Amino acid sequence: MKEELLSLTPQELTETMRALGEGAFRGRQVFSWLHKGASFEEMSNLPKALREALAGRYDAQPVSILDTVTSKLDGTVKLLYRLRDGHVVEGVLMRYHYGNTLCVSTQVGCRMGCAFCASTLEGCARSLTAGEMIGQIVCANALLASRGEQERVGNVVLMGSGEPLDNYDNVVRFLRLLREEDGLRIGMRSVSLSTCGLVPQMRRFAGEGLPVTLSLSLHAPNDAIRRRLMPVAKAYAMDEVLAACREYIDKTGRRAIVEYALVRGVNALPEHARELASRLRGMRVHVNLIPLNSVPERALMGVSEAEVAAFLGELRARNISATRRREMGDDIEGACGQLRRRYLQENRE
Ligand code: SAH
Repeated sequence: MKEELLSLTPQELTETMRALGEGAFRGRQVFSWLHKGASFEEMSNLPKALREALAGRYDAQPVSILDTVTSKLDGTVKLLYRLRDGHVVEGVLMRYHYGNTLCVSTQVGCRMGCAFCASTLEGCARSLTAGEMIGQIVCANALLASRGEQERVGNVVLMGSGEPLDNYDNVVRFLRLLREEDGLRIGMRSVSLSTCGLVPQMRRFAGEGLPVTLSLSLHAPNDAIRRRLMPVAKAYAMDEVLAACREYIDKTGRRAIVEYALVRGVNALPEHARELASRLRGMRVHVNLIPLNSVPERALMGVSEAEVAAFLGELRARNISATRRREMGDDIEGACGQLRRRYLQENRE
């Protein structure tokens, strides 16, 4: 396979251009083109011989769109992307009044094994490169442009398939590329990183100087329940996870989000809400209650709206900031990993 350029920083691209006998300014030119989604052929301010030399050695765009499904209700778009080695990952483009948010995948599948999640059913095939994460945004931007939209992707949530902190170096590289002046220019305040709670990586990430919003997938008020839903809870106790979350909040000055999917018969009773409130007391967090998307392969069920409201009421009565997550694209398969699974099943037969 050819080498990929989209993972490189402007400085690294400058070195690459120098090695080809080109002037240093070519690095920034190529960087800017790549992040606009251009092929080498389209890089009109480069000499033809250079474009051909690059095309012979490198792939300009490591991601392409395989399929899209658009919601008639709210314009949410589910995207299925193809990577160069034939793997597929998915994403969701959400249209909010404040702009376009893209949900980006960080791995092909996931090895964290959460009981409710479709992304983990077949384990993790591999981690994505930084360029493959950038490439998802580049593809979504091209889709928006092709539909005559003025705005591009302005916000990014690392909530697609994969555990971002299990692909630490590539994710950090991706975040640094994201804010480049000649690239996508997406600032860290417009990014959320969701983690199942890998404590050492959370601590390390707090020191990177990348003040994204940390989203912690907690899903339980205590260790016993958390271990039933999330194998990672066997490695790290909730106290440690919450301490690492506090450290992140203190170092970055940013409020964190606690994700909590309500699962019938497991974590959704009023007493669980009260226990959660006591665990989170004094922390600068907002709780996002997620109605469970049931995954046919998993025998877990969500709860009724009345139960969501009761849970929310218990939290608010204890001064915990909380909301029920708005569902997007209810008429398309909005849930984690499900479009991809269907695609894989259909293409296996
Ligand atoms: N690995 C990261 C990010 C990926 S998932 C993490 O664990 O946070 C993004 C969010 O969707 C997580 O909070 C995850 O727990 C949640 N999620 C996964 N499957 C779900 C389902 N079936 N219903 C509701 N939320 C789900």
